Amino acid sequence: MNPTATQSREQTIAALRQGQSFLLVTHENPDGDALGSLLSMALILRSLGKDVVVFIDRDDLPLSYEYDWLDISAVVSEIPEDADHRVVVFLDCGNTERSPLVDQAAAPEQILNIDHHHDNTRFGSIDYVVEEASSTAEIIWDLASGLGVPLTVEIAEALYLGLITDTGRFMYPNATSRSHEMATDLLAVGIDGNLIFRRVYENLPEAKLHLFARALTAAERYLDGRLTLSILSSADFEQCGASASYTEGIVDFLRAVDGTKVAALIRETTDQDGPSFRISMRSSDGEIDVSKIARAGGGGGHAAAAGFKSELPKDELIELLCSQISEQS
Ligand code: 5GP
Ligand code: MN
Repeated sequence: MNPTATQSREQTIAALRQGQSFLLVTHENPDGDALGSLLSMALILRSLGKDVVVFIDRDDLPLSYEYDWLDISAVVSEIPEDADHRVVVFLDCGNTERSPLVDQAAAPEQILNIDHHHDNTRFGSIDYVVEEASSTAEIIWDLASGLGVPLTVEIAEALYLGLITDTGRFMYPNATSRSHEMATDLLAVGIDGNLIFRRVYENLPEAKLHLFARALTAAERYLDGRLTLSILSSADFEQCGASASYTEGIVDFLRAVDGTKVAALIRETTDQDGPSFRISMRSSDGEIDVSKIARAGGGGGHAAAAGFKSELPKDELIELLCSQISEQS
């Protein structure tokens, strides 16, 4: 770890030790790493006798079926009134625009920003951003050891969830020897790894199968196959009886197609701002940094996995993707 990161690690551990009351938040549409990070950090802090509030926005509940086994009984969907007197811990959240606290008038006294996104905007009082960590869960695993908190089965399960989802089940290049070391450590606590895999990946509603079928049938190739993309309309979701979260995993299929440098799944959405598209991108072999493309579209993410929202018409959106990819290759 570089000296700045080592210093931030020590500062983060000190702040977690010194604080008495905490508010934990993550990004919207929380994925496995976001949820695993929230819940493991809550358990770690509670084992140190801290008062901990975990916030998940109402729009993000109930959790998607992959995560319905998690114990979120103590999670709240109202920002507590004393939020400005709590240490606010942002987990796995690259910027505050993606956070529910963005509309809060009161500024918290202290913000701990614990994350692994390389494009994190460093908005915290302490920014502990470990770009080489596979997941925010991996950072928390290390912090637990720095805090001297022994892992319980509950903590280890939440951390394992973050680890397996953000490494694509140890398949992505971010799965380092350290990630595997973490897995060894978590399994040694006594968690049932296979059970967690089955809950997350083999519990899919039939509607998801039908949505996958549509997305794979609709796949198109651009730039001599370097871009493989698929578009799902609102009608596709309605006709399959599928919710937006059922798209999870489609883009991985698209990326696997021979010759693909970038895979993109574009889905039509409608929210308070009207109709728009959400774009989810993956880079196949690392030649193209998809976070650059996402930033050009107003979003962000990692070099290998990134996304953005766009109000551009479909043709212009595809044009944007093609020109961005051509610029990089
Ligand atoms: P996914 O395609 O799974 O939704 O997102 C992949 C990665 O891109 C995640 O790490 C996520 O944090 C990031 N990402 C997706 N959409 C956005 C966005 O609108 N803004 C930012 N900053 N990051 C995003
Ligand atoms: Mn993450």
